[in-house]
Amino acid sequence: MSSISDNLQAVQNRIGIAAKKAGRDASAIELLAVSKTFGADAVIEAAQAGQTAFGENYLQEALDKQLAIRTARSDLLLKWHFIGPIQSNKTRPIAEHFDWVHSVEREKIAQRLNEQRPEGLPPLNICLQVNISGEASKSGVAPEQAGALARAVASMSRLKLRGLMAIPEPAGDFEQQREPFHRLRALFDALRSQGHALDTLSMGMSADLDAAIAEGATIVRVGTAIFGKRDYT
Ligand SMILES: *Cc1c(COP(=O)(O)O)cnc(C)c1O
Repeated sequence: MSSISDNLQAVQNRIGIAAKKAGRDASAIELLAVSKTFGADAVIEAAQAGQTAFGENYLQEALDKQLAIRTARSDLLLKWHFIGPIQSNKTRPIAEHFDWVHSVEREKIAQRLNEQRPEGLPPLNICLQVNISGEASKSGVAPEQAGALARAVASMSRLKLRGLMAIPEPAGDFEQQREPFHRLRALFDALRSQGHALDTLSMGMSADLDAAIAEGATIVRVGTAIFGKRDYT
């Protein structure tokens, strides 16, 4: 079995190759290591290999992990990104314990995060999650409503609107994978042309990060390719 350190290197190589193909600078693409279901030890191992940004989906699991890591290794300076669905009664610990939230899809959630972000911390970095594939089951704001949500979030002083995030349906080949990422990129460009100073396109996971980079991803969120298969039992 390969180590987390080897896997991180392999993913960075993939990012480098995809960037080169796209004529992009690999340093403009940040790797977010998605550590959900893996323990503090795995995060510490990745951090020792130089990884600093970690993504989590489940609030209580994330808070327990952060505490365990702070206790074991107070020297590690990590950035935490919340990337999972948000219940409105769970916004306070997210506002208090994360640097980024990628999964804002409703104004009410944004308002609560804005009110609850502690004064001593910098504004919370926000990406709007967009329902780019359009299935009823998937979360995210509808593309037609993203502009209104962006305006609302941009007016909130304790939030910093950074960009857009999407989780497209799994697709078979590279060209199919590119399509939804292309649509998210077009929406991103449209919001920028309306005056929003966005700099972040959070798109691409283990299976499709190469296609996402071809379409302009600036953050790729990678779990399995770094930590291995998740066990939910
Ligand atoms: C789990 C998850 C990932 C990582 O997916 P992998 O396929 O394991 O790389 C990325 N983004 C979100 C929102 C996730 O929930």
